[in-house]
Amino acid sequence: MLVRTPRPYETESLLGYVLRVSEENGYDTPTRMLKATGAAGVSGTSFDISLKVLSALVGGEIANLSKLAYRETGSQNLYLLGRPVCAKFGRSMLRLSSPAFCPHCVKDSGYIDGIWDLALIAACPKHKCAVINRCHCCEKGLSYHRPGILTCNCGADLAGAPALPVSEQIAALMEIILAKIHGRSVLTGPHRAEFPLEHLEPLSLLDFCELLSQLARHALHLHRNANNDDHLLAAKMVSDVLCDWPMGFHQLLHRIASKFPTSADRPSSLRPLLKHFYSPMFGNQDRGTKFKFLHDEFIRFVRTQIAASENTKNFYQSGAASSSWAPKVLILRAFGLNERAFKIFTDHFDIQMRIDFSTGRMIRYFDFSLFES
Ligand SMILES: [Zn+2]
Ligand SMILES: [Zn+2]
Repeated sequence: MLVRTPRPYETESLLGYVLRVSEENGYDTPTRMLKATGAAGVSGTSFDISLKVLSALVGGEIANLSKLAYRETGSQNLYLLGRPVCAKFGRSMLRLSSPAFCPHCVKDSGYIDGIWDLALIAACPKHKCAVINRCHCCEKGLSYHRPGILTCNCGADLAGAPALPVSEQIAALMEIILAKIHGRSVLTGPHRAEFPLEHLEPLSLLDFCELLSQLARHALHLHRNANNDDHLLAAKMVSDVLCDWPMGFHQLLHRIASKFPTSADRPSSLRPLLKHFYSPMFGNQDRGTKFKFLHDEFIRFVRTQIAASENTKNFYQSGAASSSWAPKVLILRAFGLNERAFKIFTDHFDIQMRIDFSTGRMIRYFDFSLFES
């Protein structure tokens, strides 16, 4: 057992706790402690920490530590402060090997909160500044293998890091994530009015994190030179998408569509939207159900777009579609769809089908009345 054995705080980061214990015991870094608990190589850190070994080191109850654990026995998910946050084998939402935090919060509270372990937390909602993930003196990326919660390996005091201010909108998004981590309602709070709060309220932390990371992936994809690990840029783009709902989301879809200009074989933006947003977002898994509000808004957007397009007007004026029913081959040509896109489209947009045998051949007609403007 160690000489000094402080208790963990209710919402403390587990690795932050190990670092704090190590610092209070005067160690250079917690590397030996982390190795003893099976949680570390020389520089990286893992979410598999032996609570049995750790509790023996700090002389505390395992139960106090298990609330902070990143794993739960028998679960394939990773956890943050008692709530599942992502699947173990998916893209990790936890940034344990390259941590970041708000130095003002850590200085005020004297410990590193678990919220800072979540990669989506790009800014501090309280101090309205970006988190720091590297030392302002030696410029090296931070790691939990350092002398103290606010001390870099170069000796710099991280509390002195310059604060990079963020917008109210980003701070509001961070507040919403924070409410999810702590299991609070997202419905009240400053600067949140523009977000689709009633749709975000029922989502679990796990689903909410998935929604944000998917939106970030799509938004960052449109950003030239964007780095997937630029969490601040991701937070800005996601807050742009969710803020001013649903206009921010429509903007994203407009940008995806305009990235793939129309051409002779792709006369409408329908195919790029299905291929580059709809399929990766809703094509598999159960995201269409989990994120129904997003799914419904996508369909509403596409309907309005198609109804307003020249292409659709020509389609109806040409007489190709008699009383809104048109054979598949004409629809494929008019909207530049391939078989795959057509299938997604008819499956998800409630397009009615009718089979006509009157000519002796089977012709399938589809109802396009929903696009008549
Ligand atoms: Zn702060
Ligand atoms: Zn440094």
